[in-house]
Amino acid sequence: MILLGPPGAGKGTQAEYLVDMYGLVQLSTGEMLRAEVKSGSELGKKAKELMDAGSLVPDDLIIDMISGQIDQHKEAKGVILDGFPRTTAQAEALDEMLGDKGLNIDHVIQMEVDEDAVVERISGRFSCSDCGAGYHDSLNKTEIDGVCDKCGSTEFTRRADDNAETVRSRLKAYREQTAPILPYYEKRGSLDTINGIGSMEEVFDRIKEIVEGG
Ligand code: AMP
Repeated sequence: MILLGPPGAGKGTQAEYLVDMYGLVQLSTGEMLRAEVKSGSELGKKAKELMDAGSLVPDDLIIDMISGQIDQHKEAKGVILDGFPRTTAQAEALDEMLGDKGLNIDHVIQMEVDEDAVVERISGRFSCSDCGAGYHDSLNKTEIDGVCDKCGSTEFTRRADDNAETVRSRLKAYREQTAPILPYYEKRGSLDTINGIGSMEEVFDRIKEIVEGG
């Protein structure tokens, strides 16, 4: 399954729900890249500057990375691609690699949110440093201030690229490089579009309807 939508649409949050409910595996290229940056690998060094500027990382690096990850999860019931594909070249490469691996795409779900909502969502978000649970300063606070609801940790992190200025560049990259892949899936009849505005549960219900509808 592919989740498409601008940064801050809620792809990561909804992917977590899908993992919990259906036992799928979430493959987030953004998370993979942040791990590479943290580890100081060659890939991480190449990616960091582009990520900090809100630009996309070159297709060939991403395609190799995701192909390796899909191979590692061959036994999984299914995989959710979160943040990939993001360019037409990536969408085409995905088709080719899935063909080679004997896999196929069941659902492509586009989450629509307007840009002002995205800026608000992104500007306030943070996550638990230990378990990765996601929160927001006003929209999704921890139950006890400063303590993770899921694991009790008191350490939190904010993404370096989650600031108003970088968000504008990331939205531009989405409009110019990612939105053009929507017709690619639409033509094949595999694209479903949902409203990404609402509570996390409301949005998940919309996704569930698509997944369970076949
Ligand atoms: P995300 O966590 O999906 O918002 O991704 C964070 C950043 O990682 C993006 O702004 C890009 O710089 C980079 N990135 C993540 N996924 C991709 C991708 N599929 N293609 C190119 N760059 C990506």
